[in-house]
Amino acid sequence: MQNADVLIVGGGPAGSSCAWKLRQAGVDVMVLDKAQFPRHKVCAGWITPPIVDELHIDVEDFKSHHVMQPITRFLTGFIGGPEIETDYAQTVSYGIRRCEFDDYLLKRSGARLELGHSFRSLKQDGSHWVVNDEYRASVVIGAGGHFCPIARHLESLHKTDATASAPKEPELPVVLAQEVEFEMSAEQQSECSVHADRPELLFCPDLKGYGWVFRKGNYLNVGLGREAEEHLSTHVSKFVEFLKTRGKITFALPGKFQGHAYRLRTELPRPSAEPGVILIGDAIGLAHRQSGEGIRPAIESGLLCADSILETSANRENLNSVYLAKMRHHFREGTTTSPLSKLIPHAFRQFAAHRLMSSRWFTRRVLLDQWFLHRN
Ligand SMILES: Cc1cc2nc3c(=O)[nH]c(=O)nc-3n(C[C@H](O)[C@H](O)[C@H](O)COP(=O)(O)OP(=O)(O)OC[C@H]3O[C@@H](n4cnc5c(N)ncnc54)[C@H](O)[C@@H]3O)c2cc1C
Repeated sequence: MQNADVLIVGGGPAGSSCAWKLRQAGVDVMVLDKAQFPRHKVCAGWITPPIVDELHIDVEDFKSHHVMQPITRFLTGFIGGPEIETDYAQTVSYGIRRCEFDDYLLKRSGARLELGHSFRSLKQDGSHWVVNDEYRASVVIGAGGHFCPIARHLESLHKTDATASAPKEPELPVVLAQEVEFEMSAEQQSECSVHADRPELLFCPDLKGYGWVFRKGNYLNVGLGREAEEHLSTHVSKFVEFLKTRGKITFALPGKFQGHAYRLRTELPRPSAEPGVILIGDAIGLAHRQSGEGIRPAIESGLLCADSILETSANRENLNSVYLAKMRHHFREGTTTSPLSKLIPHAFRQFAAHRLMSSRWFTRRVLLDQWFLHRN
């Protein structure tokens, strides 16, 4: 049996940020992940600057070994419609490659790493928890992403509980998304009309999602995500055809699109039923409702979780309630706002949305500043 103060299941941005903060305070932390790192993660790889500050990332140092593409403008519009360029005077986002970024954060955390090991079981042992009959800790954190096994374990306990007859909590909306990322050849780089500092965000006419073309150094990332979509591959194929027709891509995309999912945050985080078992990141569905940004809230929940563990080191009984209070306070903004598709009555939705999205004021002040960049 291996012992640790805190065991984190999942070494993505949520888990590694939590581990990093705890390690800085001298806590003995172990991270268990089913993957060997560096590992591929289906993602566009767009991050906002607060992440750099919150995690004390030395941008120059990171850039010297990894892709970190500064973004100073965006091209937005509807697929097939007119497009608007919005410029900023400074860097408002970065483009990273998740295989590099996640590996950097996890190794930098200083936690003991158990990689290539899947979660199998969680059992209570007095005031401690035992994972896989192999790892023992007083706190276990579920940071396993959208399909987090700890979250599913808690759900299954909840279902078999006497409270199963209680009214069901509403499901959070799920986005299904596909992307492909590859290094362009020298020829492809010179042909590619997508600018490295200007990601293109192109919305589906029914406002249920958007596609993107994102150049990060020599890498190109193309993808599309939609809420609760059964025909995602068809939408992705049509989007790629559109990009070719517009001359944005002039070459065949290598490799297959890969898919994943995430839940959008529409309400305040819910309490966890088990004392000393905490969920962070995609495991509780924290992605921003309008933009789908999930990395920053995952990191912030990891840091809040670490703060809660440090604050309750003398009395673990309060851990879950302290974490819940911090999460509800931090994420209270933006949980009740509706996306464009809900704000506008159905009959006028497409007409109004097309008008709004062709407005430079709306695109800068609402779509980008508020929904994507949270500059207010
Ligand atoms: C196509 C797509 C594009 C996206 N683009 C962006 C973007 O540009 N910007 C942005 O901010 N967000 C984006 N997101 C959302 C973002 O990827 C997630 O919100 C973010 O990765 C959540 O981080 P996390 O640490 O909670 O989970 P994850 O990053 O998913 O990490 C979970 C970890 O848990 C491990 N794990 C899972 N199951 C087990 C198990 N059984 N045992 C052990 N380990 C396990 C996994 O191997 C993984 O390393 C995108 C999502 C998709 C699907």
